[in-house]
Amino acid sequence: MDLSNILYAYAEDRSQYFNAIAPPIMQTSNFAFRKVEDMSRAFEDEMSGYLYSRGINPTVDILRKKLAALDGAEDALVFNSGAAAIFASVLANVKSGYHILSVDNPYTWAKKMFDIILPRFGVKTTYIDGRSVENFRDAIRPNTALIYLESPNSWDYAMQDLEGLAALVKSINATRASESPSDKPSPQIITICDNSYCTPLYLQPARLGIDISLQSATKYIGGHSDVVAGVISGSHAMMKKIFDSEYLNIGSGIQPFNAWLLIRGLRTLPMRLQQISATTRTVIEFLKGHPKVEELLFPLDPSFPQFELARKQLSGACGLLTIVYRTEERAEIVRFCESLKHIMLAVSWGGHESLVIPRCAGIKPEHFDATIREHRMVRLYIGLETADYLIEDLRQAFT
Ligand SMILES: *Cc1c(COP(=O)(O)O)cnc(C)c1O
Repeated sequence: MDLSNILYAYAEDRSQYFNAIAPPIMQTSNFAFRKVEDMSRAFEDEMSGYLYSRGINPTVDILRKKLAALDGAEDALVFNSGAAAIFASVLANVKSGYHILSVDNPYTWAKKMFDIILPRFGVKTTYIDGRSVENFRDAIRPNTALIYLESPNSWDYAMQDLEGLAALVKSINATRASESPSDKPSPQIITICDNSYCTPLYLQPARLGIDISLQSATKYIGGHSDVVAGVISGSHAMMKKIFDSEYLNIGSGIQPFNAWLLIRGLRTLPMRLQQISATTRTVIEFLKGHPKVEELLFPLDPSFPQFELARKQLSGACGLLTIVYRTEERAEIVRFCESLKHIMLAVSWGGHESLVIPRCAGIKPEHFDATIREHRMVRLYIGLETADYLIEDLRQAFT
C-alpha cells in the first residue's frame, strides 16, 4: 500500500463521522447492543467488534490498522506504553520451563522483566552478543521458546542480521515440528524485535521473517513528547492470541485520546524523519572533527563496525547517535551536558526537541572509570531544530 494512503486515508471512513477530516476521539468506555445475540457474539470474540474500550475502540482501531499497514503486517495492537507492549508480547509466548534467548543489553524494562519477574514463574533468560547469527545457533536450547531482539540497540546500535536469523529459526522450527511427539516436545520459537530506533519507515522486521515487531510509539510515532505508547504487529493469529489474553487481562491498551495523538503524529512522520536524518548527518560531520570526540557511533556512518549490515538492512537512520567523550574526568562530561543551552538533559527521544543523556548519569561517581569506554558515552538525540542552531550549542558546551 502507498505510504500516503496509509497515513492520510486508510482505515478512515469519514462518512461514519460527519465527513470530518480529523477522526473523532471516541471517548467511551462501553458500547450498546440492540440484540442479545449480537452481545453474545461480542462476548465470544471481543476482537471482532465494539463491546468495551479495554478491548476494541473505534479511534484505536484506525490507529491499529494504519500501524499494521506501515509495518507490512496483518494486524497490530497498541498499548499504553512500549514497556506494556514488551510485557504482553513476551508473556503470551512463554510458560514455566521455557527459555528466552535475548540479545545483550536490551531495553531496560525488557531486561527487568527477564531478570526479575519471569524467573519467579520458571522462565529463564540468557543473553548473547547478537551481532552474529552463529551465536544464536550455539545458544538455542531445546526449551528455547522465544528470541528477543533489538536492532539497532538504542545506545551502541548493535544490530542483528534479521533475515539470517529468521531463516535459522525457520529451519529449527521445521525440524522441531517434524520430531516424533514426546512428553516434552520442543516449542516453536517465536522472534520479537524491538524496532523503536528505525520505525517501520526504515525497517520492517515482519518482511524479513520476524514474528513480532515492536516499537515504543512514544518516540517517533508520537513525535511531540506528549504521549507514552507502544505497538506490536504480526500475524492476525498472533495478535488475536495476545489480545484474547494478555491485552485484555493486563488492561494496558491505549486510551482513545492518546490513540488520536498518535494518528496525528503519523501524518508528519516521514517529513519529521527526513528532516531529523538530514540534520543528524550535518551534526555528525561537526562532531567527527571535534577533538573531544574520541569515537562516534551511528549505524549509517561508514566508520560503524556493522556498517555493511546497516546499509543492507536499514533504509535510513534518524536522530540517535552516541559519542565517546575524550576525557579522564566524569566532571568534564557533566560540565558539557550542563552547559548545553538548547539541547536538554532528559530521557527518551523521538520528539521535536534535541536531548542529551550521559551514560555516567546512571553510574555512581565513585564507580566511574574513564578507562571503560561505555562510561564516557554520551547519547545525543537530534530533533527538529536546524543544524546550525544545534552545532553552535554543542560548540559552546565543548569549550
Ligand atoms: C523507550 C523505549 C522502550 C519503551 O517504551 P515506553 O513507551 O517508554 O514504555 C522500548 N524500547 C526502546 C528501544 C525504547 O527506546
